Amino acid sequence: MSNLDAVIVGAGLAGICCARALAKEGVSFQLIEASDSVGGRVRTERVDGFLLDRGFQVLLTAYPEALAQLDYDRLQLCAFAPGAMVRCDGRFYRIPDPWREPGTFMTSLFSPVGGLADKFRLSRIRSSVVSRTIEEIFDGEDISTMQALRRRQISQAMIDRFFKPFIGGVMLDPKLTVSNRLFEFVFKMFAEGDAAVPAEGIQAIPRQLAETLPAGTIRFNERVHSIGRNQVKLSTGEILQAKHVVVATEGPEASRLLGFERTVSSRSVCTLYFAAKEAPVEEPMLVLSGSSRGPINNLAVMNVVAPGYAPAGENLVSITVLGWPSRDDQTVVSMVRGQLRHWYGLVADEWRLLRMYRIEHGLPVVSPMEWQQQSRLAPGLYVCGDHRSTPSMQGAMESGRLTGESVIREMRGQPDPVTRVRKDEPRLSEIKDPDQE
Ligand SMILES: Cc1cc2nc3c(=O)[nH]c(=O)nc-3n(C[C@H](O)[C@H](O)[C@H](O)COP(=O)(O)OP(=O)(O)OC[C@H]3O[C@@H](n4cnc5c(N)ncnc54)[C@H](O)[C@@H]3O)c2cc1C
Repeated sequence: MSNLDAVIVGAGLAGICCARALAKEGVSFQLIEASDSVGGRVRTERVDGFLLDRGFQVLLTAYPEALAQLDYDRLQLCAFAPGAMVRCDGRFYRIPDPWREPGTFMTSLFSPVGGLADKFRLSRIRSSVVSRTIEEIFDGEDISTMQALRRRQISQAMIDRFFKPFIGGVMLDPKLTVSNRLFEFVFKMFAEGDAAVPAEGIQAIPRQLAETLPAGTIRFNERVHSIGRNQVKLSTGEILQAKHVVVATEGPEASRLLGFERTVSSRSVCTLYFAAKEAPVEEPMLVLSGSSRGPINNLAVMNVVAPGYAPAGENLVSITVLGWPSRDDQTVVSMVRGQLRHWYGLVADEWRLLRMYRIEHGLPVVSPMEWQQQSRLAPGLYVCGDHRSTPSMQGAMESGRLTGESVIREMRGQPDPVTRVRKDEPRLSEIKDPDQE
């Protein structure tokens, strides 16, 4: 029987950051991970010499938690160019970010993606988020992003051509129902830093975070079956005893393990990767679909941003389709190909499909009320992850670290600051330990 201070379930960003906080204070723990590697949703697969992130994603370098925990130089971050390329009215428009790329003000001002009044209002949104702290943004009014954009009199054309594919793509929410607080936070992060990927794929992020953990503290390919008071049962039947149990899985699995009445719903996404001989875009810029016709939301040529993503002489095209298409994979691929042909001509038919990832649980659907729930559910029992914070790498990392710090306070008999408002009631399993029977 184990005699651990803590067991953490799940080695995604939240679980790793919780473990790092415990390791810093010399607390003994085991991190139990169902898959064969760290990172959870932040994973990279190597296929035929290409680096395929399991779902297109970027690190926003202004994330405060990432700044505090990651060594950006060692990650060799490769940044996207600020702004975007928008496909609308049958052509591509380059929309630079005039604040980040001085000298492009006129191009940006007169681009057909929104009118002059939209550009002026966009600049006001930007100044407003840059001038406020993250705390002030999170204290703002909790209305949907769509409501907030309408209230700011952003035109429908600007919403359809820019905000839906851009913010909808980041939040996996094309209807922009997500809280305006989250939109303003993300917009601030884009304004104050880069959108980047590590030279060796997005999984380099959790790998770097995990490398400081003491050897032997992570157990891979072990699924937690159920959780009882101060113990977890693995699907092999093994029972681990610990003074503290931290559930750091994705939201739906956390709800199952903890017996919450309410489960966390998810936003889904598909990413398709194609190998192309010619790069369809020569700038390291995100391409957004500014029309609702066709399944593609956004596209990027990954090796133009970070050369290591494709072998020499090849290009890696990443395509994001939001939601969970009801059609089978073959139909989705052929619809994507149809749109690509329309955008880039017959050459797109020659692109070789490398993988299509359907990611059912991409991001949790959470409201600001839910971000504020405390992680300590009962003495010795905790939950963390992006479903208890802002749904992002920032949220997962911060939630994990704060939970680790909370465990340490409990171990030292110090009270947890009561900053969080709601608490879910866990209903734990009855685990019978055969050793004690
Ligand atoms: C396609 C996609 C695009 C994204 N884009 C961005 C982006 O651009 N920028 C950004 O900031 N964020 C983005 N995100 C969100 C970000 O990746 C997540 O918010 C974050 O990684 C969540 O981390 P987590 O630790 O909370 O959960 P997870 O990463 O889900 O980790 C949970 C871990 O628990 C393990 N686990 C589950 N059940 C068990 C069990 N029973 N026993 C043992 N282990 C278990 C899982 O295998 C997993 O490793 C994106 C996510 C996706 C999927």
